Amino acid sequence: RPTIVLFTRDLRTHDHPALAAAAARGREVVPLFVLDPAVLARSARNRIAYLREALADLRGGLRAAGADLVVRSGDTVAETVRAARSAGADRVHLSADVSAFAADRAGRLRAAGRAEGFAVAEFPGVTVVPPGALLPAGGDHYRVFTPYWRAWQAHAWRAPEPPPHGLRLPAGAAAGPLPGEECAVAGTGRLSPRRVGGGERAARERMRGWLAGGCAGYGEAHDDLAADATSRLSADLRFGCLSPLELARSARGHGACDPFVRQLAWRDFHHQVCAAYPLLNRSDYRPREVRWRDDDSAFAAWCAGRTGVPIVDAGMRQLLEEGFMHNRARLITAAFLTRELRVHWRRGGDHFHALLTDGDIADNYGNWQWVAGTGNDTRPNRSFNVLRQSRRFDPRGDYIRRYVPELADMPAERIHEPWRSPRRAADYPEPLFDV
Ligand code: FAD
Repeated sequence: RPTIVLFTRDLRTHDHPALAAAAARGREVVPLFVLDPAVLARSARNRIAYLREALADLRGGLRAAGADLVVRSGDTVAETVRAARSAGADRVHLSADVSAFAADRAGRLRAAGRAEGFAVAEFPGVTVVPPGALLPAGGDHYRVFTPYWRAWQAHAWRAPEPPPHGLRLPAGAAAGPLPGEECAVAGTGRLSPRRVGGGERAARERMRGWLAGGCAGYGEAHDDLAADATSRLSADLRFGCLSPLELARSARGHGACDPFVRQLAWRDFHHQVCAAYPLLNRSDYRPREVRWRDDDSAFAAWCAGRTGVPIVDAGMRQLLEEGFMHNRARLITAAFLTRELRVHWRRGGDHFHALLTDGDIADNYGNWQWVAGTGNDTRPNRSFNVLRQSRRFDPRGDYIRRYVPELADMPAERIHEPWRSPRRAADYPEPLFDV
C-alpha cells in the first residue's frame, strides 16, 4: 500500500530519510505538503516567500523522480488523514522535529493513525545528530556546548541517503496548485528587497560554491562584519533545502572547515535544548533576576535602526533590507537591547523572528536567551561592550557605511561614536544610551 511522506521543513530530495524509506517500501508514494493557515499567520513574509520558491523547486525534483508534490491547505493532521484515506495509505512518514508545535502535530498524527489504521514513523534529517542521540550522564540533554561538541564529533554519523527515483503517485491522486502570492498576506514583518531566494537547487549551488571557496577561510574571517565571509546557508538549513548532515560531512572532508562544522554543531545544540525545553521561545531557560524596562520608544528606535549607535543601527537595517543579519551583528544588537536598554529578550526575539528568512525557534530564541544571560551561557554575566565590539569587528567602519548611508562620509576614527565628531551627520539621531 502507498506511503504518505509529509514534508514540513525538509524540502529536498537529497538525503531525505523519510522519503528514502518510503521509496524502499514500494513505488507508490504520496509526497504531501500542507499549507496550514495557523502556521502562515505567524511566519515572516520573508519565510513565506522562501517557502513558495522551495515548494516549486521540490515539485520539480519530485517530478524528475517520477512522482509529484501534492499540495493541500488546512490543518496539517486533518489533511494528512484525508490524503491517507483517499490513497489507501497504511503509513505516514515525516522528519522528527523539536518545537512544541511539531511535537503536538506528531502526537495528533499518531492518535489519528491509531483511529484510522495507519502507522506513523518519524525519521532523522532536521539536524546532523538527532536530538536525544547524545545524552550527558544523568541528564536528558546537554546544557553546556563544549562537552556537547566533543560528544557530537565522536558520534557515528549516519550515511546520507541518495535521492529517490522511479516513484509513482497512486492513481487518482491530484497534485493541486502551488500556493500563490496571496498566502504571504498573512505573514509578519515586511518583505525584504534583498532576501535570499529559496529551493533545493539554489541551496545546493550555494553549498557547492561555499565548500569550494569561502569555507576554508571561515575560521579567520567569519567575525569580520564588512567581509561578509559566512556561508549564508542558514535559510537553506532552516527549510531543509539542504541536509545538515550532508553539509557537515562534506565540510568535514575539508580539514580547514572545522570552525564552520563547529557552527553546525551549535545549531544541533540549540535543537536538542529546544526538544527538552519546548518553552524556549517564551520563558527563561535559566531564570535570572532582571529588572526589564517596558520602554516602547527605545524598542521602536531599535527596530527601526535609529538608536544613534551606528553598529546597532547597521545590523538592524541589514535585517530590514535583507531579512538576514550577520551573526556578529545579531550578538551586538541583541546585547544592546537586553543589556543596555534592558528590554526583554522575548520582544527582541519576536522582532527578529518576524523578519528573518532563517528564523527558527531553537536557533533564534536559544541565541537570544544566551545573549540575555537566561540561556546556556556558562558566564551569564559576561560584559559586552558594544562600542568595543564595533571597533574590533568593523575597524574601518565599512559595514556601518554599507547600511547607514547618513554616515557614509564619516572617517573610520569617528564613525563608531559620531556624537564625538565636531561635524554631526544630518538626519542621524543622538545616541539612545549614556555615552
Ligand atoms: P555561518 O556562520 O556560515 O554558519 C553556518 C551555519 O551554522 C548557519 O547557517 C547556521 O545554521 C549555523 N549556526 C551558525 N551560528 C549559529 C549559532 N550561534 N546558533 C545556531 N546555529 C548557528 N540562526 C538561525 O539559523 N536562525 C535564527 O533564527 C537565528 N537567530 C539568531 C539570533 C541571535 C540573537 C543570534 C546571536 C544568532 C542567531 N542565529 C540564528 C545564529 C546565527 O547568527 C545564524 O545562523 C548565522 O548568522 C547565519 O548566517 P550564515 O548561514 O552565513 O552562518
